[in-house]
Amino acid sequence: MNIFFYFIIFTIGILFGSFYTLAVYRIPRKEDITHTHSYCPNCNAKLGFFELIPVLSYIFLGGKCKHCGEKIRARYIILELLSGTLFVIFALILGLDVYNLDIKSILTFAFFALFTTYIVLTLAIYKEHKRVEKSVLYYGIVITIMYMVYLYILK
Ligand SMILES: [Zn+2]
Repeated sequence: MNIFFYFIIFTIGILFGSFYTLAVYRIPRKEDITHTHSYCPNCNAKLGFFELIPVLSYIFLGGKCKHCGEKIRARYIILELLSGTLFVIFALILGLDVYNLDIKSILTFAFFALFTTYIVLTLAIYKEHKRVEKSVLYYGIVITIMYMVYLYILK
């Protein structure tokens, strides 16, 4: 059962990785990150449901856009897999066990995911645009305050 549980954590990590690439592309362009449908940055074709599945769609499409044939950058899939691996490593460090899940380790894991999101977005956007996005910074401040409140309540 734990292997299945860790596979789910790996999948969640991959979904976060997929969100990172989308957010790093869209936030500096002031595009909506939650409502706008994903599209190919080359031909602007909207992506269908199966093209939105991280990693698998890349493999089935042979690393190319179905509509224009433009190569999808391999770093997307690498980032998704790295993110999945990182989530599994952190779950292992926390000793997450599907038979002994307590609210404290679940929340610690959730904060790990939120902080990782903050760090990845800040560094990646800085690397590409040499600036820090205000919205990402505010997000970082909000989760830091949430974490401090959480630690305070826990005591
Ligand atoms: Zn395309």
